[in-house]
Amino acid sequence: MLNWSMRKELLEHPVFAMAATQFERTADFLGLTEAVRERCKWPKRLITVTVPIQRDDGRTEVFFGYRVQHHLSRGPVKGGLRYHPEVDLGEVAALAMWMNWKCALANLPYGGAKGGIACDPRTMSTGELERLTRRFTMEIMPFIGENIDVMAPDMGTNEQTMAWVLDTYSTHAGYLVPGIVTGKPLKLQGSYGRVQATGHGVAFLISSALHKLDLPSEGSSVIIQGFGNVGFHAAKTIHNYGMRVIGISDVTGAIWNEHGLDIPALAQHAAATGGVTGFPESTPVDPEEMLTRKCDILIPAALGGVITAENAGLLQCRLLAEAANGPTTPDADAIIEARGDIFVIPDILCNSGGVVVSYFEWVQNLQRFQWSEQDVLAKLETLLQRSFESMLLFAKNHRIPHRLAALAIGIKEVADVKEQRGLFP
Ligand code: NAD
Repeated sequence: MLNWSMRKELLEHPVFAMAATQFERTADFLGLTEAVRERCKWPKRLITVTVPIQRDDGRTEVFFGYRVQHHLSRGPVKGGLRYHPEVDLGEVAALAMWMNWKCALANLPYGGAKGGIACDPRTMSTGELERLTRRFTMEIMPFIGENIDVMAPDMGTNEQTMAWVLDTYSTHAGYLVPGIVTGKPLKLQGSYGRVQATGHGVAFLISSALHKLDLPSEGSSVIIQGFGNVGFHAAKTIHNYGMRVIGISDVTGAIWNEHGLDIPALAQHAAATGGVTGFPESTPVDPEEMLTRKCDILIPAALGGVITAENAGLLQCRLLAEAANGPTTPDADAIIEARGDIFVIPDILCNSGGVVVSYFEWVQNLQRFQWSEQDVLAKLETLLQRSFESMLLFAKNHRIPHRLAALAIGIKEVADVKEQRGLFP
């Protein structure tokens, strides 16, 4: 049971407050009873551990690690592991809650989870990161398992991190447990298509939305914030669809080319120089101002909270594809809803390609069978199209915005299961 100070601590956290506001609004719309509302809102388990490791210089340093499992009513929990200096319990709890609704909207047999360690991975050696990951895995060992909690990479972690988690867990179990993590290397029974899944899904949903809006996809203009895993793979697929990516930003700055950036060449440039700035066939632009330039499609694919009350009224896009988690603040959402001229693909649908293919990876692991990339991407598109259609139908039938519709489908799914299972004991 969460005591009042824990409730207060979570609700005072800006990211958790945002997730809780969205939840309350949707619970009001669904007319959830107080009992089910309380059970759906608060996380089942908030795990905080200390992770002591030896640094390369011989010092012992203690890091704080977190794993929040929002609910286990629909199956094991699923969610990323983040290494970042600003990771804290409130942020992890908010991301776990969003994972919940995302999994339920896609009809995956999972609850949501998230984890993280407050550290700066860029300043740590490979050996230090390995010791950190293995010790964290040991500390949370009683709470994870392929039928309990399945981790995946997130900001600051990658397939090597997942390989270390898998090895630590499997060594402890005495046999290989591939289903303990997803987003792992192919040779350790990872899945074809997992690396590009989120970005590919973003691009696929954009093309479906353009089709619904009766707008041509060929030649339409796109602005993307972020050129990491999601931003790059979305840009690559969009480029292959014949759209023009006219603006891209990353942590180094923003660049512009009205005729469309050459994405494969830009990827080579970013790999060689560490960022998108200085790309020959482009002009530099202000990253903030870029978001409000005229385009057909705007894709925030980096940080949360970048579409705010300050810039929401200035947006000049027809379609907002939320590839990042929580890119639009509730205040900005209200402005976009009032404007009514922007078609929103909300984050819990837009970036769900990653967890969908993670689910496929887990299923392949349980089956001890590997599917082809073609198979994986075809199944991904089928599943995303189904979620997209059900969100559109729900929004149309109830005359509500897309975000509320997507959240309502996810939250109702969880609420129904809580109701049907009843309260134990
Ligand atoms: P990543 O670390 O690979 O890339 C992040 C990108 O954002 C980098 O290009 C970085 O330079 C850029 N960036 C950082 N600060 C910026 C700034 N101030 N302005 C512009 N760009 C900036 O991360 P990712 O995996 O691509 O994730 C991006 C977002 O998508 C995150 O919100 C993440 O939670 C979300 N997401 C990722 C996945 C996935 O499968 N990777 C799945 C679902 C959601």
